[in-house]
Amino acid sequence: MDDAPEVAVLRLGHRPGRDDRMTTHVALTARALGATRVILPDDASDAVDTARSVTERFGGPFAVEQDDSWRARLREWDGIVVHLTMYGEPVQTVGTEVREAGRTAPVLVVIGAEKVPFDVYEAADWNVAVTNQPHSEVASLAVFLDRLYQGQELDCEWADAERRVVPRATGKRVVEAGENERHADGDG
Ligand code: SAM
Repeated sequence: MDDAPEVAVLRLGHRPGRDDRMTTHVALTARALGATRVILPDDASDAVDTARSVTERFGGPFAVEQDDSWRARLREWDGIVVHLTMYGEPVQTVGTEVREAGRTAPVLVVIGAEKVPFDVYEAADWNVAVTNQPHSEVASLAVFLDRLYQGQELDCEWADAERRVVPRATGKRVVEAGENERHADGDG
């Protein structure tokens, strides 16, 4: 993506069992919508495995890390920190400012699971709301990334993909890497 901010997503909190699907969807949404990295809690191993497996099959670049020391991450982050929260400033008000700042510094996007400690609000350069209504970390992450990248992430190229979905009006078509090349050469 031209001139696009480099984004890592930090997922705070994970309740094994209850949050497994949500944490997995955080990672998959981060990957699909242009972030280059997700940092998940130590006890989110199922989500880590799924996100790595999807990246292996459908391409990258996308890194999946596990780390519980989120306070150190926030303190040591050499870039800007955006915390997504219903209590923040509307994305439609501060989005342009964040995008400008993200042109020269990597962006750490922080999202919660349950109650987020107050020091996160203080550590953030921006507390950003996607509406001031309660909803979901996956929805807020998706809308925020789309605003940040201004839709460019929808046309991402994927490197080292083993398989690729061919868009169709009906049905499903997936091509494997070798098959893909034959099609590109016109002899498939
Ligand atoms: N009750 C929790 C609290 O007080 O922090 C919020 C739980 S919510 C299900 C989980 C996460 O979704 C939040 O930490 C936040 O990152 C995100 N979220 C929910 N609604 C949001 C909104 N309107 N705008 C931005 N992020 C939101």
